[in-house]
Amino acid sequence: MRRKLVAGNWKMHGLKAQLGEVEAIAAEAAANPGVDVALCVPFTLIAPAVAVAGGLPIGAQDLHEADKGAHTGCISGAMLRECGATLTIVGHSERRADQHETSHDAWAKAAAARRHGLQVILCCGETDAERDAGRAERIVQSQIEKSLPEGAHGDWLTLAYEPRWAIGTGKTPTLDEIGSIHAIARAKLRTMVGDAAAGIRILYGGSVTGANAADILAVDNVDGALVGGASLTAEKFVPIIRGA
Ligand code: PGA
Repeated sequence: MRRKLVAGNWKMHGLKAQLGEVEAIAAEAAANPGVDVALCVPFTLIAPAVAVAGGLPIGAQDLHEADKGAHTGCISGAMLRECGATLTIVGHSERRADQHETSHDAWAKAAAARRHGLQVILCCGETDAERDAGRAERIVQSQIEKSLPEGAHGDWLTLAYEPRWAIGTGKTPTLDEIGSIHAIARAKLRTMVGDAAAGIRILYGGSVTGANAADILAVDNVDGALVGGASLTAEKFVPIIRGA
């Protein structure tokens, strides 16, 4: 049985002034032991957030694929571990768009995170042009094929389906569309890792709010949510945790 996971992605938001939100979210997570909750914050906020999070898992949003070396401005898995992160997102569509990251990069980063004992949230999802061209399913299958690290297992890997056109737009696919892509993603995992596919959580991400979370999280094969904008304050994030 897969436990639901509600993970916040703060993106490039959050200074120490927002640590009160981390505390409030952590308190709500502790009050809802039936659902897993995590927050992925900017690198600079990881250690301060860990200090106030009372055990709520705090993660990063990216890491470098190498363990160390001449990579100016980059952060390694060991650095994330040292400041208290226990998980990281890889392959987010904003990094694919802004930093031109590929599925191969996501694969290498997922493997690096795994080497350092970090949980991984591996993102996939089509653009609006790909969706309009009827290619969403094939794109998601191909991204999973190219980015799933060796030995993928639900103990440390979570997949997140995030259609790019739904991120930060207030638009979401229909529940049927979400169910259909998640079923396709599950089937793809099964062809790649066999029975272990049943234990890998598949999150939905893209304009999840307190108003739509319960419906989305009730869809078959939706094992939680990756939440951007609505994770920035406890006021918006708490209803999503409760909806799970
Ligand atoms: P959003 O972002 O919830 O603000 O749409 C989701 C994400 O990018 O992970």
